[in-house]
Amino acid sequence: MPDRAPQPVDRQLPTDEARDLISLVRDIAQREIAPSAAEEEDAGRFPREVFALLSESGLLGLPYDAQSGGGEQPYEVYLQVLEEFAAARLTVGLGVSVHTLACYALAAYGTKEQQADHLPAMLGGGLLGAYCLSEPASGSDAASLRTKAVREGDDWVIDGTKAWITHGGVADFYTVMARTGEDGPRGITAFLVPADAEGLSAAVPEKKMGLKGSPTAQIHFDGVRVPDDRRLGDEGQGFAIALSALDSGRLGIAACAIGVAQAALDEAVAYAAQRRQFGKPISDFQGLRFMLADMATRIEAGRALYLAAARLRDAGRPFAKQAAMAKLFCTDAAMAVTTDAVQVLGGYGYTADFPAERLMREAKVLQIVEGTNQIQRMVIARHLAGPEGR
Ligand SMILES: Cc1cc2nc3c(=O)[nH]c(=O)nc-3n(C[C@H](O)[C@H](O)[C@H](O)COP(=O)(O)OP(=O)(O)OC[C@H]3O[C@@H](n4cnc5c(N)ncnc54)[C@H](O)[C@@H]3O)c2cc1C
Repeated sequence: MPDRAPQPVDRQLPTDEARDLISLVRDIAQREIAPSAAEEEDAGRFPREVFALLSESGLLGLPYDAQSGGGEQPYEVYLQVLEEFAAARLTVGLGVSVHTLACYALAAYGTKEQQADHLPAMLGGGLLGAYCLSEPASGSDAASLRTKAVREGDDWVIDGTKAWITHGGVADFYTVMARTGEDGPRGITAFLVPADAEGLSAAVPEKKMGLKGSPTAQIHFDGVRVPDDRRLGDEGQGFAIALSALDSGRLGIAACAIGVAQAALDEAVAYAAQRRQFGKPISDFQGLRFMLADMATRIEAGRALYLAAARLRDAGRPFAKQAAMAKLFCTDAAMAVTTDAVQVLGGYGYTADFPAERLMREAKVLQIVEGTNQIQRMVIARHLAGPEGR
């Protein structure tokens, strides 16, 4: 079970090259990633070798410039790659998205010298990244972060604790937002910190509801010294860089959500075709048929919304509002679709023998990461009605 392989998604892709890329990714996802996903998630095992394979295959730097070692793919293609990975295993899809987010500050704000020194290894040289904004006392209110970086001669010395860091303890580099000046958003600066910097350590990973193969850990900075050429962008520009990275990162989360939802729908459709009750397949009952139809409609609507936002980004037009809408809609859709998939499988859906319950637990985290869905509504409302309290 399921006895019928799911049909590949009928994707709108701009070029033959993009079509070839998606079929390569689907092949890797279904052959190298999906078969062990349930077992490894259950064991909480991080698939480092998969990320090495993706880096080797040029799949860890897809939306970045070719001259820096990236794949130079438009967002509309890169996001559909993420969707395929997330459908096979969210730890991989989300991991690629977070790695891409961690590369953004250097790719978009680094100097030519910084980019030449570090980007090729990050985009295709086997390194894995993490993005450090959240702290134990600052999540949604990220601008109140307290990790400090103090200038000492040509160096910066970083002290503090970052929380909830995806790839915490397994990453090779950390893109870190730290306070270098006044309170609030204008006193924050971005740094690129190597994992082997003295004084950097990872706590024991959090015990999570799902996404157990993806380590999420606090990262402690205890007098971590980095030279000034590890500063990304200007002093005080770090919060603007962090938010700009998140506009794109949210599109990645939206795509991952649709991947998870698609996997749940495929499972529900296959199960409903072979499970018989009252002398016929349960897929003959209108009550279930309508449920499947609603699940599929939510998925298509979510895919269309994230692709519309991606196409704005690819055209160089503002896309932050649409990215927030896509993150909100797609992750809520994934929660609803995976919950319905459990329902379609009945009692079996509530057991770990079928993927539906894991997909439901994974969908939940997508409503929280990279800005909760309450925060997405705040972002959207700001675009409509301006800042609060004017
Ligand atoms: C598995 C996982 C991986 C993560 N990976 C990373 C990572 O790699 N890097 C990183 O920096 N962070 C990461 N995060 C952190 C994540 O971004 C935060 O959890 C998220 O931003 C929410 O912050 P918080 O958990 O502190 O919740 P809080 O901000 O304390 O929010 C608690 C609740 O209050 C609501 N709320 C808060 N403010 C408002 C408001 N103004 N209006 C309405 N409601 C509000 C929130 O929506 C939420 O429901 C990760 C989190 C998880 C769970």
